[in-house]
Amino acid sequence: MDMQLMQDIVSVYGPSGREQAASDVIKAYVEPYCDEVYNDVLGNLIAVKKGTSGKKIMFSAHMDQIGLIVLDIDEKGFLYVAPVGGVSPMLSVGHEVMFQNGTRGVVSYENKTKKFTEITMMEVFLDIGSSTKEEAEEKVSIGDIAVFVSNFVMMGKKVAHRTQDDRIACAIVAEALKTMKSEHDIYAVFTVQEEVGTRGAGPAAYVIEPDLNISLDVCSVGDTPESVREHVKLGCGPTVKAKDSSVIVPMSVREFIKNAAKKNNIAVQDEVLRAGGTDTGAVQRTRGGILSGCISIPCRYIHTPVETVDMDDVDAAVKLVIACVEESELPK
Ligand SMILES: [Zn+2]
Repeated sequence: MDMQLMQDIVSVYGPSGREQAASDVIKAYVEPYCDEVYNDVLGNLIAVKKGTSGKKIMFSAHMDQIGLIVLDIDEKGFLYVAPVGGVSPMLSVGHEVMFQNGTRGVVSYENKTKKFTEITMMEVFLDIGSSTKEEAEEKVSIGDIAVFVSNFVMMGKKVAHRTQDDRIACAIVAEALKTMKSEHDIYAVFTVQEEVGTRGAGPAAYVIEPDLNISLDVCSVGDTPESVREHVKLGCGPTVKAKDSSVIVPMSVREFIKNAAKKNNIAVQDEVLRAGGTDTGAVQRTRGGILSGCISIPCRYIHTPVETVDMDDVDAAVKLVIACVEESELPK
């Protein structure tokens, strides 16, 4: 993995519905390796590499990240917010945030009756350093979305960042596009609005009408202290999804991915995600149904400021994407 590409793609601002800056960064990286790169009406970034077989393989990785949308500003200049995607109020408190225009702020809460663990978004506010409503309104408007600020934490092969979900998968697809060779048309779709209900991937797949879709997202792991039972561990390879809340992956698609992995000596893990959906299901239910599977990147602490992945899994996922497009026979 090109570390500069990874850091640029993972750290750019881009909450659900406001993905343009992230799209621009990814576009700059993939354009030299593709025949066509464009945004659709919803903002999905679609990069096409033409083949000769007449078959189409789509990859989908979501660009959007979770955030906090401003719903009110009080007389003292504090901002009240609603979650965009699965944001925990408790895990937000004490963190730094940033708006698209560069305005910085911090998240705190005030509640005299509830325990900290019982707070909701109703008690959470942002402080952007303003003393009055007018001063705050010069920097931020109702409907603006803040994202959490986070640095890369390098821990040997493990790397933590707030936005590994799912920019690490965007980086994997962008990296794979550089060297992949396929007889099929490749549609790499960097999707919008996954975190608010997998809204972007379906319309993109409807138009592309792929013979096969492979989504890439992060999945939870069972290797932390006293974690609930999960089969997947960090550093043991990308996963081949069997099920999440949005999808049951057809056996033919799972076998296709596993075969490609085996041929190329790439270790993979079987994955059943306890909770949470992905673009995989959104694509599967488009048109008359589309064959859809998912490769996941094992990730600790999903939807916290320290989403942690293992670079060995990331590098293996790049190889696995390339291995899949080299297969002549697509699943039926
Ligand atoms: Zn995700």
